[in-house]
Amino acid sequence: MNAPAPKISFVSLGCPKALVDSERIITSLRSEGYELTRTHAGADLVIVNTCGFLDSAKAESLDNIGKALSENGKVIVTGCMGAEPEQIRDRFPNVLAITGPQAYESVLEAVHEALPPAHDPYVDLVPPQGVKLTPRHYAYLKISEGCNNRCSFCIIPKLRGDLVSRPVGDILREAEKLVAAGVRELLVISQDTSAYGVDIRYATSAFQGRQVRAKFLDLSRELGQLGAWVRLHYVYPYPHVDEVIQLMADGLVLPYLDIPFQHASPNVLKAMKRPAHQEKTLDRIRKWREICPELGVRSTFIVGFPGETDEDFEFLLDWLKEARLERVGCFKYEPVKGAVANDLSLPAVPNEIKQQRYNRFMAAQQAISAKVLSSRVGKRLKVIIDEAGPTGAKGRSVWDAPEIDGNVYAASRRPLRTGDIVTVKIERADAYDLHGQAV
Ligand code: SF4
Repeated sequence: MNAPAPKISFVSLGCPKALVDSERIITSLRSEGYELTRTHAGADLVIVNTCGFLDSAKAESLDNIGKALSENGKVIVTGCMGAEPEQIRDRFPNVLAITGPQAYESVLEAVHEALPPAHDPYVDLVPPQGVKLTPRHYAYLKISEGCNNRCSFCIIPKLRGDLVSRPVGDILREAEKLVAAGVRELLVISQDTSAYGVDIRYATSAFQGRQVRAKFLDLSRELGQLGAWVRLHYVYPYPHVDEVIQLMADGLVLPYLDIPFQHASPNVLKAMKRPAHQEKTLDRIRKWREICPELGVRSTFIVGFPGETDEDFEFLLDWLKEARLERVGCFKYEPVKGAVANDLSLPAVPNEIKQQRYNRFMAAQQAISAKVLSSRVGKRLKVIIDEAGPTGAKGRSVWDAPEIDGNVYAASRRPLRTGDIVTVKIERADAYDLHGQAV
């Protein structure tokens, strides 16, 4: 026999935009099998979609929350007043959750937590962590969409708009489900991870009974406590990143930072309009290594950007040798249709020069990378196994992201399983990979 459908009483206040939000939330709830009731008393839970436009609207919202609490007791608050949750918490500390305007996902998550949907054999074919295209032991975690930067070679902001950060509670709940489903490594992605939360003014949201700020540091710290490896991608070298490096030193987050520097010469960076292009990046990297000596930095670069002179390129090579980044990729500049860089009226770099610069860049980096890797010979490294065979396995160290960095090949006397995190004694290194024995 099917369990009875959980019942929700819904109060919708405010303008037509709020009404549309209510319709969306109710549509999702209905599609998940929840029923609506007309009275608070007959419901398992009450949702109040508030309006905070005028003082009178706020007062009406607060009255409705009070009424729902006294008539039912289990109340979730959403809508405009949810953007300033203190006003509600101060007066009604026992509301179950407060989510902001248009945060549909958060409302649904809060409902699921307080009142799980009835079992549905059709919908339940989808696992709670959603359908993933990555192997079971690692997963990408997208924390925002769009980008507030305007790099001249890039059309992503045109395609995807400005930065829209996901509520931090939603991200953490997704991460938690992934870890519960067997994910051992979370790869944090966005267009600009260090800018996370700027657009929502670092709004707090509830997670595991605590209020968490939508800030790069807070998000990283919380993710670091879920029991999986946490790898940060697409970070820019802003000063506030220093605080996250400390989390790496404390072992909460992998000592790995993916920073797409793209160039080092101030002239080229300026023409590229790169974020943080005025930062003294070499000093920054030096400081990060002081905070966390284990840190590995991976980056990508573009050679042959319009206007790049021989001096700019030499500057880049010197910078590269000084920075000694662990992992580096390089691209020859290609114009993207619709990008501002096409209208900069800077002289294009001829293809053969681009190729020469690319070759020199790669040779310089290969030497650096070989040195870095040979310094790991003799060490015991933690390795996550991506592919396992009867006598050996292919995996990655904390300094290797899947698909883009190198591998660790480990011989083993016992069978290893995909997703295991094992210790490997490194015996040999080549230009990109390490080889050793599982211990
Ligand atoms: S390249 Fe620049 S503009 Fe494009 S997504 Fe990255 S930071 Fe944003």
